[in-house]
Amino acid sequence: MHVLITGGAGFVGSHLAEALLRQGNNVTVLDDLSTGSILNIQHLKRERRFVYVIDSVMHRAVLAELIDECDIVYHLAAAVGVRLVVDSPVRTLHTNIRATELVLEAAKKKKKKVLITSTSEVYGKATKIPFHEDDDLVIGPPVRGRWSYACSKAIDEFLAIAYHREHGVPVVLVRLFNTVGPRQTGTYGMVLPRFVSQALAGSPITIYGDGTQSRCFGWVGDVVQALIKLSTHDGAVGSIFNIGSDQEVTINELAAVVKEETGSSSPIRHLSYEEAYGKDFEDMSRRVPDLSRIRTAIGYSPTKSLREIVQAVTDSLIQPNLRETEDASVAVNLAATLAQAD
Ligand code: UDP
Repeated sequence: MHVLITGGAGFVGSHLAEALLRQGNNVTVLDDLSTGSILNIQHLKRERRFVYVIDSVMHRAVLAELIDECDIVYHLAAAVGVRLVVDSPVRTLHTNIRATELVLEAAKKKKKKVLITSTSEVYGKATKIPFHEDDDLVIGPPVRGRWSYACSKAIDEFLAIAYHREHGVPVVLVRLFNTVGPRQTGTYGMVLPRFVSQALAGSPITIYGDGTQSRCFGWVGDVVQALIKLSTHDGAVGSIFNIGSDQEVTINELAAVVKEETGSSSPIRHLSYEEAYGKDFEDMSRRVPDLSRIRTAIGYSPTKSLREIVQAVTDSLIQPNLRETEDASVAVNLAATLAQAD
């Protein structure tokens, strides 16, 4: 197959590109590098079946051309991360809603299959645990910046279902629950890379609020396999799937696991939400997926425990420093050899 991944230089997108290449597909990545990074796909550039286009998904002509050429679109390009969403609500709404509409419009012409990544954020303030795909979405008021993200992704879902029902576009929708793994950056909020980096640097591990809020962390390797399986499963068309882990952990517990696994002596510091994100910020207290639908559809089951995930993220954050050290020693050796030759 020839696949197009919008947002393919991002954290999840780059892992998806890698997995699809490994399975023998031709992969084209479209990314404007606004939150993604060329470093995420650097190692794929030498692959014969890999093409990357640095451009915006909002560039209609480029998008239409790339969608014409592919068999399936994985639409991952989006404004993500609580920090980004709170700081740039206009960009969030615009990028998420407009880009998805353009993808669906271009896919409609040739009836191309589209998998759209949505988020557990759409469940908002729902309190019925675990969250099932058919539950009501309980989104907070527009004056609280965070909800613009939830709302923009909910609109994406409504758009996708509308294009499917009215125009026959084969769509698959997935709601990702706190996906984590190597290459995720803490710049836009994400708690795990932030905690691990803080622990490795020996600086305070900053917990927002009282830390009793909980999340379930999904391993990126499991998530991308699920995306691939759902995208080729006929029964998934027109449906929404939760993807992630259902192993619930409080943020206080997460900080403790990170400290243990990194062997760090960092102190733990609690910050108020106001200190972290400014006034009027609202967090979700619990977020747990009901995984029965995806289990039935593709036999999905998470493969890593939280500790294994924390270890893998820690290794990935230590590795680049090692590589720099290795590069530096190669450079020193080369300089010494050249000096001798002189
Ligand atoms: N969080 C934290 N410290 C940080 C970043 C996040 O305590 O440095 C908390 C955040 O308030 C939330 C949880 O960790 O309760 C998960 O945050 P993240 O931004 O990773 O994802 P969310 O589930 O909020 O979208």
